[in-house]
Amino acid sequence: MAVGEFELIKEYFFRNAASYGVALGIGDDCALLQVPQDKQLAVSMDTLVGDIHFPSNADPELIAERALRVNLSDLAAMGAEPLWFTLGLTLPKTDDHWLKGFSQGLFRVANDFNISLVGGDTTRGNLSITIQVHGAVDPKKALLRGNANVGDSVFVTGPLGDGAAALAVIKKELEVGKSAFNYFMDHYYRPQPQIATALHLGGIASSGIDISDGLVADLGHICEQSGVGADIFLERLPLSEPLNKLVEPEQALQWALSGGDDYHLCFTVPTDKMKTFEALCSRHRLPATLIGRMTDAKDVRCLHKGDEVVLTKTGYQHF
Ligand code: ADP
Ligand code: MG
Repeated sequence: MAVGEFELIKEYFFRNAASYGVALGIGDDCALLQVPQDKQLAVSMDTLVGDIHFPSNADPELIAERALRVNLSDLAAMGAEPLWFTLGLTLPKTDDHWLKGFSQGLFRVANDFNISLVGGDTTRGNLSITIQVHGAVDPKKALLRGNANVGDSVFVTGPLGDGAAALAVIKKELEVGKSAFNYFMDHYYRPQPQIATALHLGGIASSGIDISDGLVADLGHICEQSGVGADIFLERLPLSEPLNKLVEPEQALQWALSGGDDYHLCFTVPTDKMKTFEALCSRHRLPATLIGRMTDAKDVRCLHKGDEVVLTKTGYQHF
């Protein structure tokens, strides 16, 4: 990267890191970071490639928001508190206007979630953004995928299916009015990582995951790694008002089960922790909807008012 170009990167990305434990931030060969005592470092990375994971011509502020928010969702899924992140930026050209917007979006989210940029790398090529997030978690409270048990209740933190609907709206496969358009655009570019809720679940939830690939697939990961099955109670799945207005119930349900990009948490609570959990929910107004139960079957089953149904491309069918 030429000197002038590097100056631009410096201008937009070199900020003093304010969060915990940054002994040395951007500007040297490495950042030097102090992990909080008695905590483990939770590390996760996601790459977003232009025109594959987002439209390259989208507003750079929104691209940055989405890139950092989906990474933060992985910290939430682990029950980890955000600390630091690094940024790998591949750009077709150094565009002052683009970098300005991108850094504004990036630091807005970083401030909201109290996470600091501590380093990165900048190269030339097709637009691509890689973020690595670092968080702190009490090893006894990490929300692993592998600890669910038969009989645990299954919860989600919010409405499902909006991610898939948002994608259809962005791809112009569906026509919508202005307020629905804004709702789904916001959902797509500004998903809400469930950090605050996740930090309450440590020591209570037996397992957790964020819903990035669809409820059935992601709950399926919990089943696989825990060696148990799960029943989903279809009539209990929370759906948003805009989604209910946008499509037929069957389509909404299909998206809620197997669309991606929802970024809500799915977690399990053992029976003997339910009282504590309910008290916690009302004290902190945690968003949690009971949607199923872990079973001794092998994988995920869907029940409609108690009857098993199978998923089809457009909805579900009774056996
Ligand atoms: P090196 O040659 O040692 O890899 P670089 O010139 O790539 O160093 O980077 C110099 C400093 O700028 C490092 O501290 C690096 O972390 C930081 N940096 C480079 N690109 C970015 C970026 N996109 N975001 C944040 N920090 C960056
Ligand atoms: Mg480098």
